[in-house]
Amino acid sequence: MQHYPLLFQPLDLGFITLRNRVLMGSMHIGLEEQKGGFAQLAQFYAERAKGGVGLIVTGGIAPNRAGWVSPFSARMKPSLVAKHQLITQAVHAEGGRICMQILHAGRYGYHPLAVAPMAVKSPISKFKPWKLSKRGVKKTIRDFVRSAELAQKANYDGVEVMGSEGYLINEFIAPYTNQRTDEWGGSMENRFRFPLEIVRQIREKVGRNFIIIYRLSMLDLVKNGSNWDEVVLLAKAIEKAGATIINTGVGWHEARIPTIATLVPQGGFSWITARMKGEVNIPLITSNRINTPEVAEDILQRGDADMVSMARPFLADADFCRKAMENRADEINTCIACNQACLDHIFKQKPATCLVNPRAAKETIYNITLAQKKKTVAIIGAGMAGLSSAISAADRGHTVHLFEKSDTIGGQFRMAAKVPGKADFKETIRYFSRQLELKGVQLHLKTTLSAEAFIAKNFDEIVVATGVKPRQLSIPGIDHPKVLSYPEVLNGAKVGHSVAIIGAGGIGFDMAAFLTEKGGEQSFEAFAKTWGVDMSYQERGAIAKPNPSPATREVFLLQRSEGKLGRKLGKTTGWIHRRLLKFKKVNMIGGVVYEKIDDAGLHISVKGVRKILSVDQIVICAGQVSENTLFENLHKQLGDKIHLIGGAKLAGELDAQRAIREGFEIGLRL
Ligand code: NAP
Ligand code: SF4
Repeated sequence: MQHYPLLFQPLDLGFITLRNRVLMGSMHIGLEEQKGGFAQLAQFYAERAKGGVGLIVTGGIAPNRAGWVSPFSARMKPSLVAKHQLITQAVHAEGGRICMQILHAGRYGYHPLAVAPMAVKSPISKFKPWKLSKRGVKKTIRDFVRSAELAQKANYDGVEVMGSEGYLINEFIAPYTNQRTDEWGGSMENRFRFPLEIVRQIREKVGRNFIIIYRLSMLDLVKNGSNWDEVVLLAKAIEKAGATIINTGVGWHEARIPTIATLVPQGGFSWITARMKGEVNIPLITSNRINTPEVAEDILQRGDADMVSMARPFLADADFCRKAMENRADEINTCIACNQACLDHIFKQKPATCLVNPRAAKETIYNITLAQKKKTVAIIGAGMAGLSSAISAADRGHTVHLFEKSDTIGGQFRMAAKVPGKADFKETIRYFSRQLELKGVQLHLKTTLSAEAFIAKNFDEIVVATGVKPRQLSIPGIDHPKVLSYPEVLNGAKVGHSVAIIGAGGIGFDMAAFLTEKGGEQSFEAFAKTWGVDMSYQERGAIAKPNPSPATREVFLLQRSEGKLGRKLGKTTGWIHRRLLKFKKVNMIGGVVYEKIDDAGLHISVKGVRKILSVDQIVICAGQVSENTLFENLHKQLGDKIHLIGGAKLAGELDAQRAIREGFEIGLRL
């Protein structure tokens, strides 16, 4: 029996039939601009096609230089057709279908050549765009059309015209960014002319048998964005202009409402696509925070959309569709929407990969082959680094024993899963747990052995992944009963009404959220109320005043360094954490000197001014140190035969991304 009957139903587009209802949404990978990048991309997309996805959309390709997202980013030109053919050939060879996305960054272009309907800077770019002249507008349309023609020459099955997220086309549509007085601005008809001309002229050039997906901003989530009537009228006009499918865009990049982070309830934005159903006759795709086949199937069963788009889930697992189709969904490596290795990398001008799948977009670099000599391997510690190394060592045919002192696997990640909005982290633990079973890794829980005992077992290789322990502080009174460590709190220690948190790194921020939120699963309606999404669409842009629930505790979040707290949090999620704590009125204080702890509370001074925070508890989130005593003992006796990875190797700046990658890599080297 097929568990996801609608998800795997073919979609007949008249001239072409997609094998199922799953779209791999557009993601910029950062290989597009690199030497040899097209060959790598071809392998990346081919593996996803082999994994059974219905239709792939490439990362955004600019139609001209002004449309670059950043200097020298990918753009379509005749000399690149042959390179794009590497991608299309590889995907077609695996029975897949692929469209090229045409994206003009408009005023989000991070370079001095950026253009827009108006010469007005966006709040997220330091470059003021040039106002497109009337001639410039017409030339830009021609460049879109030429890119589509070249995409057709490169054997793509179609194009996606990026009309959402606040990029150029969206800027023409919304009154917020388009107050032109010529035929390209002002009235609704004038504001719509740019996207409609693009779609109409592309259709004219490419003929009938070529997919045109139009990504329509159904929710701008910015002031003076489109209103719902306009969105519907535009959708109808886009259909008439020749689009084959309409995809859902949610939120401009400058919107202060999270749209894809872990705390967005799964599949929560499909209501907006559902609202469009019945207004047009072409298929509708919905998107955002869809990361399991169950969520995707539910959306289709409710009739919210005809197809679902998932982007990051295909970084996390190339075989998402195949596993779901074969009723092996419990084997899917689920995207946890952390953004740490994908979007955050792109913002740092590094190629994207995936925190839970270090092989993503490195398929030509990491080849998993059977080891020439089969070994017996001991891995000590079943946190992220240990789990990842156990799986990759087992994949290479080794016999793997995984030792863990606690009664469960997952280490620090298991704790993170308790933080509000991070419940998806449990999926990674479920994935590893299932892989251990499938790959025959012998798991020894509640097992603490001495170095001598390990040596006596004569393993061919020993990998130490014993992780980290909280840093011990030497503040006078640190042993006071008011003081708790963060693991104690996450594991259920009783906490009073007012709390001071020492340390404002990722864990301090998580702790502040944990202590001020009610916890439990959040409905989309509650999320919308907190962040100010106007689900009744009374206002242009569908934004309302944020209305968060009050904090459950009074919290002080402290750090010794001067300046804004949370500066080191991820580029794409840090602002969300900071805003959430502002909603909860958390007192964030930098430049703190910790003086002592006693019955009165935490004594601090800030800029020489002393104060007592009369709190019930003080929670220490002051970073970690390596837990590597066992390694040192083993190393003394066996020398460099012992491998050390993850937090046990280096606690500073430890994150799950490095732990999983190091584990994966060591497995490949054994
Ligand atoms: P961290 O980011 O290194 O932060 C440690 C905090 O403790 C800092 O605020 C530091 O600030 C303070 N601190 C350090 N030494 C101290 C001392 N001796 N006395 C008092 N305060 C001290 O470490 P973390 O918060 O434990 O996080 C560990 C890792 O987990 C991070 O690197 C991060 O990658 C990952 N993580 C990420 C997220 C996320 O949202 N992306 C969430 C959780 C964890 P001062 O030195 O200024 O006082
Ligand atoms: Fe998903 Fe995080 Fe991987 Fe990005 S890095 S694909 S958000 S799991």
